[in-house]
Amino acid sequence: MLAYTYVKHGTFELLEKPKPVLLDEHDAIVKVTLASICTSDLHIKHGSVPRAVPGITVGHEMVGVVESVGSAVSSVKPGDRVTVNVETFCGECFFCQNGWVNNCTDPDGGWALGCRIDGGQAEYVRVPHADQGLNKIPDGVTDRQALFVGDILATGYWAAQIAEIRPGDTVLILGAGPTGLCTLECARLLDPGCIIVCDTDAERLDFVRRRFPGVLTCGAEGLSEFVRAHSRHGGADAVLEVAGSAASFRAAWECARPNAVVTVVALYDGPQTLPLPEMYGKNLTFKTGGVDGCRCKETLDLIAAGKIDTTPLITHTFPLRGIDKAYELFESRRDGVMKVAVEC
Ligand SMILES: [Zn+2]
Ligand SMILES: [Zn+2]
Repeated sequence: MLAYTYVKHGTFELLEKPKPVLLDEHDAIVKVTLASICTSDLHIKHGSVPRAVPGITVGHEMVGVVESVGSAVSSVKPGDRVTVNVETFCGECFFCQNGWVNNCTDPDGGWALGCRIDGGQAEYVRVPHADQGLNKIPDGVTDRQALFVGDILATGYWAAQIAEIRPGDTVLILGAGPTGLCTLECARLLDPGCIIVCDTDAERLDFVRRRFPGVLTCGAEGLSEFVRAHSRHGGADAVLEVAGSAASFRAAWECARPNAVVTVVALYDGPQTLPLPEMYGKNLTFKTGGVDGCRCKETLDLIAAGKIDTTPLITHTFPLRGIDKAYELFESRRDGVMKVAVEC
């Protein structure tokens, strides 16, 4: 089968590899129908994910059809259409029992697919702990509608849930890239009074205005004043930092009102500074880290009910044989690209 492979630092190649087989009774083999490219894939390509193993098939955003299952798998069967979760988790350890599946202590726990084990920019993928890692796609929900459920939409849903957004709140979302927009989709469901999206890219703010007419947008310049003008208590009640720059990290706590929750979803290239003396008395709560992606069934139900729609994020589609071109486009951010779908 064809599999897009991390050959060495800076090089991914479409290679012919053997089709994966079941290695454990909890495994499933999924025939990938549609995959996507994530910024994390680019991080692997450029060497900023040291735990990524050369030789692995990349890709951790995909949907497909179950081909075969191990004897201990009970939640899916061959023929089921499924989403694949970016995170592998056992469902049994202390962290999984608390819903903190990002910290699953299983050897394959956490982000393994397309990083430490073969992923899904390929014709087939082996999914460990398939009862946890796969969710059935409801009838009537297309592959394109479900494509982001296991990764960026899981992240947006998790971020909105932990941000403690209350009805009527002013919510500030920093970053209007694909994950920022998934966060926006999910924050809207919590009935805030006002959502402000900030990005330095005017084209991305245009995208937000076209797609979400009620949402306010602002560039980095003058952001604090803009947020204050649209807040009841001197700043945003909830801030979600999805952009990942030093400036956006600073804006996150600066634009928050006292006692706000600042949810930091972004992954940074380096350490960030919290000037605690300057912030003293603001009494902020920071929530940081990687998605606990264990609520995919809820997001699939919301998609089926028409409450979440991430299909507008898919701006381009390529066949698996054209994946080099898909990467080139995604990486260059040309032609208004937001996300690409790869038909496997
Ligand atoms: Zn990802
Ligand atoms: Zn676990």
